[in-house]
Amino acid sequence: MSHKGKTAVITGSNSGIGLGIARELARQGADVILNSFTDRDEDHALAAEIAQESGTNARYIQADMSDGAACRALIEKAGACDILVNNAGIQHVSPIEDFPVEKWEAVLGINLVSNFHTIAMALPMMREAGWGRIVNVASAHGLTASAYKSAYVASKHGVIGLTKTIALETAEEPITCNAICPGYVFTPIVEAQIPDQMKTHGLSRDDVIRDVMLARQPSKEFVTVEQIAGTAAFLCSDTAAQITGTAVRVDGGWAAL
Ligand code: NAD
Repeated sequence: MSHKGKTAVITGSNSGIGLGIARELARQGADVILNSFTDRDEDHALAAEIAQESGTNARYIQADMSDGAACRALIEKAGACDILVNNAGIQHVSPIEDFPVEKWEAVLGINLVSNFHTIAMALPMMREAGWGRIVNVASAHGLTASAYKSAYVASKHGVIGLTKTIALETAEEPITCNAICPGYVFTPIVEAQIPDQMKTHGLSRDDVIRDVMLARQPSKEFVTVEQIAGTAAFLCSDTAAQITGTAVRVDGGWAAL
């Protein structure tokens, strides 16, 4: 599948899953817009590296996804948006009675409300272009819950509800809207947590991974960034033209429990 001539905007893509999705879409020929809230040389260097590898246009645009006006400005500055991947996300863990209000608002704002703003801006561009793909990165926590993650779980359930609604609003057009629900994905942030967990639990690396980190993932294997990127690229393909309003689980069986 080639996405030559298409422009993809991927929010929260200077690391982890978003960066993997950007690399894969660029590999398939799309021009990509990377984004995060920082504006460092290394952010722009990542875009230059992707452009070099793929031979496509790649740009980095700074925009804070906790700010609705900045979300809208990102799409405007992109100039085109055939593929929109809403990926930016944060987590905060706390019992509800101690949950800081500003953390609740940040999690809901970045994980869910940003999707409302970017989709509202991108849809008219997709309609004008006569084709569009929206992929929202939700989570296994969009379908199941864990204690102390109220904001994250609420935001990701919200993303799936928003996904279904946009799918219905675009159902008769060549535009689709789907969510991906990853289980535990092996990213640099996850890898960095392993030594601390080994110390805390007095366990070996393998036991921490199997019994602590992957306690809820029946496959007992991490999902890889490449598997999520491949799923996103599939949802953007012509083969997936009739797949809309779905929440695709890539979770080693997590949400089957
Ligand atoms: P990550 O921390 O590497 O990526 C998050 C991205 O969002 C980063 O690029 C970060 O810079 C960006 N971001 C954070 N705040 C932002 C803001 N205010 N404005 C713009 N960008 C911002 O983590 P990740 O694991 O790659 O997570 C990506 C998405 O996948 C998130 O939505 C997350 O909830 C979801 N997810 C991750 C896992 C996992 O196990 N890693 C599992 C399920 C879902």
